[in-house]
Amino acid sequence: MEKKQFQAESKRLLEMMINSIYSQKEVFLRELISNASDAIDKIYYKALTDDSLTFDKDSYYIKVTADKESRTLKILDTGIGMTKEELENNLGIIAKSGSLAFKKENESKDGHDIIGQFGVGFYAAFMVADVVTVISKALGSDQAYKWQSEGADGYTIEEVEKDSVGTEIILTIKENTEDETYDEYLEEYRLKQIIKKYSDFIRYPIKMDVTQR
Ligand code: ADP
Ligand code: MG
Repeated sequence: MEKKQFQAESKRLLEMMINSIYSQKEVFLRELISNASDAIDKIYYKALTDDSLTFDKDSYYIKVTADKESRTLKILDTGIGMTKEELENNLGIIAKSGSLAFKKENESKDGHDIIGQFGVGFYAAFMVADVVTVISKALGSDQAYKWQSEGADGYTIEEVEKDSVGTEIILTIKENTEDETYDEYLEEYRLKQIIKKYSDFIRYPIKMDVTQR
């Protein structure tokens, strides 16, 4: 499969994320849940103006699933999903968010703490994951796609099967090192704590499923 390259700016942010310059790695979950919520908002607003769509509140939710055996953490949403083009364009471009410019400005000051409060976006996933997989099916589309990246050397996209519209972000959580622990991001109590801290205001239900092993 062909490996595609990230844009130069994106690659730099990605490298910062991979090298985990931010002290508050836990914000990755806030970023992914906020993206999931935005995606559900988009379906919700579409339903308001499009009579062929009905918004049944119960079918819109976010689900966080941790599996210690495979070291994966999945964030699923029943939002609007992404087409192949959207996967390529939205998950590879950071210039618009301004977080890179912000980082530059504050690098010499106390960059570490300030940045934690800022939206660092999708790439924050690379602070805790070796591999990031995004499986998505867009509203109105028959085909689902899998986007996958192990970091700065690019990403791949291929067709996959997915029944329902929405997105699954699957993180392969890094192994613990001498200085850093990552196992905590597969622990139910810890995930709950992070969600409570940053995502309490999210308007859609956040379900959780953790296999204990
Ligand atoms: P921002 O949320 O500030 O736009 P992000 O880096 O967090 O920046 O996300 C980039 C873009 O990727 C989003 O604007 C959105 O278009 C797309 N995206 C990310 N996650 C999802 C998702 N779960 N469902 C649909 N689109 C998503
Ligand atoms: Mg975001």
